[in-house]
Amino acid sequence: MNRTFIIIKPDAVRNKYSGKIIDRIESEGFRILGLRLLQLSDSQAKEFYAVHKERPFYNDLCKFMTSGPVMVAALQADNAVQKWRDLIGATDPAEAAANTIRKLYAESKEANAVHGSDSDDNAQQEIAFFFKDSDLIG
Ligand code: GDP
Repeated sequence: MNRTFIIIKPDAVRNKYSGKIIDRIESEGFRILGLRLLQLSDSQAKEFYAVHKERPFYNDLCKFMTSGPVMVAALQADNAVQKWRDLIGATDPAEAAANTIRKLYAESKEANAVHGSDSDDNAQQEIAFFFKDSDLIG
């Protein structure tokens, strides 16, 4: 069993898609180890997305990610990182496959409904950014 870290981004929470996304998480066979609703601070968003700080969209992305509440979750499944990325689809919803979460619920390449870790190492770091071990139901 592996873990991944996900965010239901401000657009999806605002558009009232969080319930549908959580339903999909469960029906696809992930186990939810931890789940929180929170509002990212500017410094949290900048630190979380620090890997993108040289990219032209970094400031806009941080502004978007602090524009409203998000849900953060740690999920468990076999091959969790890849399984979640397959389920969410391409970064740009216009390019996302049919029935993926981004195709169904994203607004744009930036406001694209959900985040997912891109490696097991990053999943571990991202989970630790938001959850103490004792917060997770393992
Ligand atoms: P992901 O792994 O599919 O989330 O994509 P990336 O790691 O490449 O980018 C991180 C996040 O930055 C994406 O999920 C989008 O919210 C945002 N993003 C990526 N590319 C662009 C872009 O070209 N323009 C804007 N405005 N946002 C982008």
